[in-house]
Amino acid sequence: MLIVQKFGGTSVANTERIKSVAARVAKYHAKGDQIVVVVSAMSGVTDGLIKLAKEIMPLPSEREMDVLLATGEQTTIALTAIALHALGLPAASLTGAQAGIVTDGVHTKAKIQNITPRKIHELLNADKVVIVAGFQGQTREGQITTLGRGGSDLTAIALAAALKANLCQIYTDVDGVYTADPRLVPTARKLTEISYDEMLELASLGAKVMQSRSVEFAKKFGVVFEVRSSLNDNPGTIVKEETKGMEDVVIRGVSLDKNQAKMTLVGVPDRPGIAASIFKSLADGAINVDMIVQNASHGSETPATDLSFTVDRADLLKAGKIIDELRSSIGIRDVVAAEKMGKLSIVGVGMRSHSGVAAKMFDTLAQAGINIEMISTSEIKISVVIELSKAEPAMRAVHAAFLG
Ligand code: ADP
Ligand code: ASP
Ligand code: MG
Repeated sequence: MLIVQKFGGTSVANTERIKSVAARVAKYHAKGDQIVVVVSAMSGVTDGLIKLAKEIMPLPSEREMDVLLATGEQTTIALTAIALHALGLPAASLTGAQAGIVTDGVHTKAKIQNITPRKIHELLNADKVVIVAGFQGQTREGQITTLGRGGSDLTAIALAAALKANLCQIYTDVDGVYTADPRLVPTARKLTEISYDEMLELASLGAKVMQSRSVEFAKKFGVVFEVRSSLNDNPGTIVKEETKGMEDVVIRGVSLDKNQAKMTLVGVPDRPGIAASIFKSLADGAINVDMIVQNASHGSETPATDLSFTVDRADLLKAGKIIDELRSSIGIRDVVAAEKMGKLSIVGVGMRSHSGVAAKMFDTLAQAGINIEMISTSEIKISVVIELSKAEPAMRAVHAAFLG
């Protein structure tokens, strides 16, 4: 069998952990499996490198950030290869570029364009364990790129697709995908399986256990994968295409995004084209706007409305500057920013065939005395924006109401 095994930051946090990764790989190798190992940077290393750069200047060049951040994973591949050699196993490390991972040129969040795994095959055929640096690739022109935070997940899934691996295992510091982040909700339960769509929603709504782009990729190429712990041998969670019985479960999980902020534009003239110009300016500034709510118009002669929207907290300052520039030309009366907001979401394909889910969520929050500021829904999720200080108790209350 050809197996891709990915080990995240905590799983390679120090040399002891790296040795235990090597021991696990050796067990599979002894069974005759061919193994491609993908590793992240040691836990805290990527954050540490970002901090160093920002000590020098607040907005460093993204090209240089990629050169810098790629060193994190490069350290781990070499140490993992050395740990395998220490056990007497033949192993060789490859950077993303050496592994044939070609990306576009969007530094710090590059997309994989194709993978030419010639070198990987050569090494596997020579009976070597191949260790590939996660999170990085190279443009056609030879520039080093990275795939966005959490991007080692994507490296693993993309390699599993390119190599047509029989198994793709994502090893992390929890036993699998839970009904909610087990660090925030102690009663959360490990799921045996979850559909791509549910995993994708949970991941993009704040559950960092999988990078959302990697789940998108897995769905597109039909890569079935298992999320499991590097600290024990417990079976993990299988992520795969939706199956029939999955709709019987109404809510699969709850997630919380703590990095939200809200802006309210008070007294915005209610005329065609105003919303378009506001959101075009924000888009031109590369600001991702998530939820938008516009109130009913008030005033009859010069009708005006209030417009609220959410952005990532990291983008709030920049969004504020853009709105300030528009303020007098459009005639916005006032701007109010709420910096600390959270987005709480429930996700489940069963929502398609069950009614009353939203009512139950809102009622649960009401009973807990939590005010809902914004709401958005899709076929398989309901999200609410609430004050950050209430977000964790709200998450536990909603989890208790739907998942016990
Ligand atoms: P790695 O370094 O292995 O990539 P991450 O820190 O990126 O690991 O992701 C694992 C973490 O994701 C867990 O420690 C857990 O706190 C968090 N997490 C958030 N939501 C969930 C969830 N629904 N199920 C499991 N873990 C979750
Ligand atoms: N080291 C990178 C990060 O911290 C990639 C990863 O861990 O998946 O985001
Ligand atoms: Mg991760």
